[in-house]
Amino acid sequence: MSTLSSKVMSFLEASKGFLRDPYEPNRLFAKGCKIEGVYLIVSKGIPLFRTEGVGDVTLLTVKEADQEYTVPAILPEKIQAKIRRQMLEILRGNVADDLKQVIKKYRNLGFKKVEEDGSWNCYIAPPLSEGGTDIGMCGFCPSCTILGSMITDVELEDAGTSYGLKSRVQHDIAFAATVYERAVSDLTHTKVGDGISYTGMALFEEPHILPGVCFIGKIVLSDVTMREAKIVLSSLTSIARMGAGETKYGSVQVILLGLKAGRHESISSYDIVRHVLSETKGAYVTPEEVLKHTIDYVGGRGFNLLFTSDINVSDIESNVDLSTEDVKAIWSEDNYSYAKQILEYVRKVHPARAKRAQTKGTREEG
Ligand SMILES: [Zn+2]
Repeated sequence: MSTLSSKVMSFLEASKGFLRDPYEPNRLFAKGCKIEGVYLIVSKGIPLFRTEGVGDVTLLTVKEADQEYTVPAILPEKIQAKIRRQMLEILRGNVADDLKQVIKKYRNLGFKKVEEDGSWNCYIAPPLSEGGTDIGMCGFCPSCTILGSMITDVELEDAGTSYGLKSRVQHDIAFAATVYERAVSDLTHTKVGDGISYTGMALFEEPHILPGVCFIGKIVLSDVTMREAKIVLSSLTSIARMGAGETKYGSVQVILLGLKAGRHESISSYDIVRHVLSETKGAYVTPEEVLKHTIDYVGGRGFNLLFTSDINVSDIESNVDLSTEDVKAIWSEDNYSYAKQILEYVRKVHPARAKRAQTKGTREEG
């Protein structure tokens, strides 16, 4: 186990009071168990972080003392979508025959997106690609129950309702610690349609983030079990590419710097970036400098630090490990008991609708 992984494990062991027990009744209901994580997204290529279309980068202005700093930002939905992709990759990569036996049990609960032999897939697809509200997600896998999903008749036998599973992972905006003029470079490209790129098409410019620019983010894990916390942190730290055109531009490194457990959230990425900007004045400084100011700030606010402030980011082993055993246990214990509670809840809250749907079905058949 890497040094980072063992530090994360000791933190989680010591924070059991703020983690849920896999078999606890009423685990669906929030109890104010929060794990906050502060991390850096370090640009290692020339990523594109934009809101819509070509030619813009998401920008936000932050006021600190008598200065205004306009900085690039990464919106929470981008981070959440990337964590979901990473988690699905981890989950799929661990599906073997013995795990299929476990996944088969979800079919017996009434979940529909699992084959008879326990073959399973869950994926992000644009709405309407399969018709109706179906967006490809299965509604019952660890990624769906932790990061949120919809449960309708498409996902669950006789659901009779549409139940929104709220994400138990929340995010702050990730603010860059460098002002726009120094963080971005306009590069000219040819239109692409393809493998990497080809020439001879229209030219256009895009504002790219320079290598070394750091974004400061915060994640909150609410009412998760210890293993659920591990899979989320493992997914977050395994992100190595991000943004539009990530196949060629988007190399990044995500460095989880500190964790804190509590009954409520105690800090926001906004607070941290203001502190860092007050030190750097928005200059294009090294990632080590941003890391040092971030660690100084959160270390003084009760965060359990995972790195010291004198490290070189290029030498950091930043992945939180997750074993195959952990993945199996999430499917068979933590997530299975949670999925069962979802089912009980849906049946209890919508018994009339579920029953009506059944009667209607019978009448049509008759
Ligand atoms: Zn799923």
